Amino acid sequence: MSEHHDCEGYVSDRFSHQCGKSGKYKEGGKWYCWHHKPSRQESDREKRSRQWQAEWDHGNKSDKLQDRIEKLEERMIKACYALRHDGAVPGGLAILDLVKKHEKTIKALERHVQNGIPQVS
Ligand SMILES: [Zn+2]
Repeated sequence: MSEHHDCEGYVSDRFSHQCGKSGKYKEGGKWYCWHHKPSRQESDREKRSRQWQAEWDHGNKSDKLQDRIEKLEERMIKACYALRHDGAVPGGLAILDLVKKHEKTIKALERHVQNGIPQVS
């Protein structure tokens, strides 16, 4: 014995009207089809929001790495100008250190870009 219920979800095309499909899921005392089930719609919204956050975080990290690369480049140029005041060996070592950091940061940025935006499940 199965009682028939219409889905109480709303569809809006030109006008908003009741969905009318078979209501197979009861939530909050009302019947809904799979599409209009409030718990499903809620989890979809959460998923979209987490995906958006993942995209934002990914872009934000790219920007930070890019900024760090640019700052290291500025410091390398300054260190080159300071070379004759600092003395060849200490000045050269300071530049070498900056070059290593620069390479490391570029590799980190490349890896980050290759990994792409994580897909939330
Ligand atoms: Zn429905």
